[in-house]
Amino acid sequence: MVILKSSEEIEKIYASNQVVAEILSKLESEITPGIDTLYLNDLSERLAYERNAIPAFKGYRGFPYSICASLNNTVVHGFPSKTPLNEGDIISLDFGVLLNGYYGDSAITVAVGKISESTRRLTQATEEALYEGIEKAIPGGRLSDISHAIQTHVEAAGFSVVRKFVGHGIGSNLHEEPQIPNFGKPGMGVRLKPGMTLAIEPMVNEKNYDVEILEDGWTVVTKDGSLSAHFEHTIAITESGPIILSKRDGS
Ligand code: MG
Ligand code: MG
Repeated sequence: MVILKSSEEIEKIYASNQVVAEILSKLESEITPGIDTLYLNDLSERLAYERNAIPAFKGYRGFPYSICASLNNTVVHGFPSKTPLNEGDIISLDFGVLLNGYYGDSAITVAVGKISESTRRLTQATEEALYEGIEKAIPGGRLSDISHAIQTHVEAAGFSVVRKFVGHGIGSNLHEEPQIPNFGKPGMGVRLKPGMTLAIEPMVNEKNYDVEILEDGWTVVTKDGSLSAHFEHTIAITESGPIILSKRDGS
């Protein structure tokens, strides 16, 4: 069942997502060759607690860290590590918090120093696809209108959308119904309504969409070793259309 939220609840989900947005911006500003993602993990925790928010991922189904740090061919759910980032890498950071009973969830893929033109096109197409999907989150539409818009944009750019992982509803639970695939025909699935709060999150591979999970039980990598990018926003559907609750300053 899709849980519709009151405007008071959406305010709380917004507050939580603003903590996420602010912390992701701070982490992004720290990214430079030589920095390691365990440092970013620890920084995210400190900043969350300073804002009276609880990092949402640590301990979630046993996930051991507060951020997912997914490097290059890692799609999602990568573990932060002491390995320094290198010039030309891309690093996806996924972060969530719980504040006053409601969750925030957002992700960005960041270039480390200077990246190749083909890599830049991958991250750009993924972020654009997220916004294409968000534009379809309007009352009266159907859930798969979002999915279809994402897939269409990604494939027109020559990349592929991951099938195995999806976006989700969000609120007083980190993951709620509906599941939001990043592919599919339009006009299917639940009718979109004001009060829905959704985390939309395209995961896009440079080549084939197949993925595999490493022995740690979490880290998802591309099967062919190609690069992967991930962007995510939490949004609310209102009478007048979507509002991005995790929008960062200047974004
Ligand atoms: Mg996320
Ligand atoms: Mg999510």
